[in-house]
Amino acid sequence: MRAMVFTAPGQPLEYRDLPVPTPQPEEVLIRVEACAVCRTDLHIIDGELPAPNLPLIPGHQIVGTIERLGARVTRWTVGQRVGVPWLGWTCGECRFCRDGRENLCDQAQFTGYTRPGGFAEYTIADQRFCFALPTDYDATAVAPLLCAGLIGYRALRLAGTGERLGIYGFGAAAHLMTQVARWQGREVFAFTRPGDTEGQRFARELGAVWAGSSTELPPVPLDAAIIFAPVGDLVPYALRAVEKGGVVVCGGIHMSQIPAFAYELLWGERVLRSVANLTREDGEAFLQLAPQIPVRTTVQIFPLTELNTALNALRQGKLQGAAVIQISQG
Ligand SMILES: [Zn+2]
Ligand SMILES: [Zn+2]
Repeated sequence: MRAMVFTAPGQPLEYRDLPVPTPQPEEVLIRVEACAVCRTDLHIIDGELPAPNLPLIPGHQIVGTIERLGARVTRWTVGQRVGVPWLGWTCGECRFCRDGRENLCDQAQFTGYTRPGGFAEYTIADQRFCFALPTDYDATAVAPLLCAGLIGYRALRLAGTGERLGIYGFGAAAHLMTQVARWQGREVFAFTRPGDTEGQRFARELGAVWAGSSTELPPVPLDAAIIFAPVGDLVPYALRAVEKGGVVVCGGIHMSQIPAFAYELLWGERVLRSVANLTREDGEAFLQLAPQIPVRTTVQIFPLTELNTALNALRQGKLQGAAVIQISQG
């Protein structure tokens, strides 16, 4: 099979021919149709996350068709379309798994990081960690829901139910969560890199009531803010923008250093927290909700051989919405 392979930090991914993997008893073999690109893929290939399983096929927003079943697979049949998210395996036994926080599992494995990912013609996944997908979307349109959507939705839930929501970093997750928040009856305030007027226009098109630079204060105090950009400098700005009792959620897996700030910014029962990974419950809830709203994805499609181009576009903030690698036609 053709695959894009990560061999060392800072190197472009290599286009290679590899054997098609064989599913273990609890796994399915999937013929990949599309796999969306995530900021986390950049953190992995830049060496910002420890101990990737090298050589590695990244990619954790996989849409494909089941081609073969492992000996003990009962949940799926050959020919079904499934989605494979970031959370690829959990132990089911640790204290986090037992009390509904499998996203924090001590032994969790992650797709496209410690398990094989989807930037290839085929991949394998544990049967328990595949999702049935809404039928309203084609493969390239639904792929960004699998991380930008799922983890974005977990971040939105953790931000509480306040009416005025700020979103810092207007990329793939933000363009989806703006639609969800609007449907929930909230007002969205979008913060982009200073000078990114295109990004601000895109945010307004999607229904943000205000869009401006991340260094500006919004016209009114916010109830909550989500920071999707991996930029620690944004934390004091977001704390300054939220009202007393407000919540600031850091939505990324990696962030640059957070600068020291005056206690006064946290005072007034403001809360600063992160969101880590996802649970299968998050995934099922969001995949059921998305077609009802309906959440529309804005995508830029690239062939597998252009994955490095797509990653560079994401790095430079040149994408609107999500980059998706199209690998085969359903
Ligand atoms: Zn566990
Ligand atoms: Zn992701």
